[in-house]
Amino acid sequence: MLEILGHSGPARLGVWHYADKKIPTPNFLLNAAPATTGIKHDAYIAPRWVRTSRAPLVVHYGTLVGGAKIRRQGILPGAGFGLDIPRELAELGVERTLALAERYPEQGAVVEGGRYPDLRELAARRLASRSLLAIASGAKLCRRPRLLVEVLTRVREVTSPNTALYLPGAPPALFPVLAYMGVDLFDASHAIRDALTGRYLTPLLQSRPLDRMRELPCTCPVCTSGGVDALRSSSGHLVRHNIWVLRSLCAQMREAIRSGGFAELLEMLADASPAANAVLRILYREKHPFLEKYTRTLP
Ligand SMILES: [Zn+2]
Repeated sequence: MLEILGHSGPARLGVWHYADKKIPTPNFLLNAAPATTGIKHDAYIAPRWVRTSRAPLVVHYGTLVGGAKIRRQGILPGAGFGLDIPRELAELGVERTLALAERYPEQGAVVEGGRYPDLRELAARRLASRSLLAIASGAKLCRRPRLLVEVLTRVREVTSPNTALYLPGAPPALFPVLAYMGVDLFDASHAIRDALTGRYLTPLLQSRPLDRMRELPCTCPVCTSGGVDALRSSSGHLVRHNIWVLRSLCAQMREAIRSGGFAELLEMLADASPAANAVLRILYREKHPFLEKYTRTLP
């Protein structure tokens, strides 16, 4: 479960108690994959077929296809069929996912419901007391700002404050605005994919082709030890740098919530990202009650 230490608006500073570890949030789960071998982090995530000794590990069981053998701690399979699907299929996906979740009350689960916010809300209500919930089709939702805002605010409002909310596949530029809607956990899949295709994550969370860069705007150990040429020579170096940017971002977000400066960080980073800016403007324009609920007012 997630212990909340503080708020800045709806953004939450917390400690997630998982597998006997205390993980500071907001944070990201590092994908346990060959590309990240040797990179240490607070917590890891891997699909069920990956054998790894990394800990603490969240096993993501994926989809329900092929049956479910649940042995390790993690996120139960979702039975959804994607985002843009007919309502009947989305309803079926929710129903099957909830039926499985009932059999494993201690496990994390997936909030299905396709592109229907009311179904997502219904699913989240039924899973409201889980310690960990993942939002299905996270990466696709991130490309639909209005739907993203609608789904996340509804899910956050009906789930327990002590539920850690995980949005898989989010681009780093959206981490701050997602945290502002109450998302606690992200992953590194976007940053790793960027690195493997030669894209460098800047401190302002822009993804740029490394081969067009002359200087590195980052002072992490990877960037300062070798410069552009060393980074180009191995995708492993670029993976390490991109992960370092995520780690630094999460530390900045936590410290900003702690010190009351989260709004400034959010605005600054949204100015550098049209996608984050679009989400933030919708949130400001259409979700006043949600934002006000978390804003402390003086008597
Ligand atoms: Zn760097």
